[in-house]
Amino acid sequence: MTFVGTGTPVASASAGADTGLAKWTSGSTELAVAGFNYGKFKKKAVTDKESGYEIEFYANDKVPDELRGVQAMIDEVDREGNSSMTTLGSVSTTRMADSMLADAQNATRLYNSFFGKLPYSRLAITQQPAAFFGQAWPTLVYMPYTAFMDATQRAQLFGARGGTDTSWEYVGPHEIAHQWWGHLVGWKSYHDQWMSEGFSEFSASLFVQFILKDTDKFVEFWENQRKRIVESSPATLGRKPFMIGPVTQGFRLSSAKTGAVYPNLVYPKGAYILHMLRMLMYDRRTGDAQFMKMMKDFVRTHFNKDVSTGDFKRIVEKHMTKEMDVDQNGRIDWFFDQWVYGTEVPSYNFDYKIASDGSLSGRISPPFHPVGSLEPCAQAGAAKH
Ligand SMILES: [Zn+2]
Repeated sequence: MTFVGTGTPVASASAGADTGLAKWTSGSTELAVAGFNYGKFKKKAVTDKESGYEIEFYANDKVPDELRGVQAMIDEVDREGNSSMTTLGSVSTTRMADSMLADAQNATRLYNSFFGKLPYSRLAITQQPAAFFGQAWPTLVYMPYTAFMDATQRAQLFGARGGTDTSWEYVGPHEIAHQWWGHLVGWKSYHDQWMSEGFSEFSASLFVQFILKDTDKFVEFWENQRKRIVESSPATLGRKPFMIGPVTQGFRLSSAKTGAVYPNLVYPKGAYILHMLRMLMYDRRTGDAQFMKMMKDFVRTHFNKDVSTGDFKRIVEKHMTKEMDVDQNGRIDWFFDQWVYGTEVPSYNFDYKIASDGSLSGRISPPFHPVGSLEPCAQAGAAKH
């Protein structure tokens, strides 16, 4: 059995015939939280010369009980002379080691360049046996075993949603991003947790753009995020998440009346807020330079501390472009009031005509504000913190 902890192992000594002893330290970096994983793992590691990290991958050499039950059923079907028409019988989570190591290596390099370098020397990606759960600790990531399967296998196991839901596809880049959002920079209260989840989700979009280099997937990524924000679903008891409250309402957005609004608003809208800032700061000549400078300053200024939404706003004001200073007072209240503390999503109508000579004429009609978008609980949550 292997123990994988937060920090770095400093010594390992056997304490007895059937007990082991492992000592781990985070060195001079004091950490607010620590976690560990424990299991029968196969380990594979790669040292990334560019970033200086050792990236480790720990997968179980046996499939989880949950999946073994399914496999037993498939065996029975096949024994009776029928074909189960699945490929689940051959699932092996250790087979994914190389591609996951490469993804983790690329993600850390990318986030290093956008947000600044981590103060650690290693990062462990570890498997855990719950199908729908991922979590990050400093230097340690829990990955659901489903992330180690391909889309076809997930579809066989969970139906169509398992094949198409991108949360599995990007759980690795999201959890790795928590090394920055959540760990290097924490959150002061639930009003500020939207940055940890939203910025990690945003980071996954950078992974799609720069590592997968797939424009269609990038557009699809943001379209999926948009739908999560504006569309009602059974998970949100038929409510449109953006109408329930601002992202600063945090986990209180979810309730018996609203269902799972928290994950369907804080993650995608938090991501969009940062994406919109990135787009506002994007320069045709210098690209993301100004945005990267801001994000690095945010991490450096609040290194290993908990931050509030106001702390982030001050950093944005420090680095915003002239064009972003709409009120010409050095403040970015207009943006935060609308998108961070606000609950409305404007919609525009675009009508256009292409004339016979090929010329295009069109009209964008004024923003339409949805009626009745503010519920009593949303107004209470709009307080600024
Ligand atoms: Zn997360």
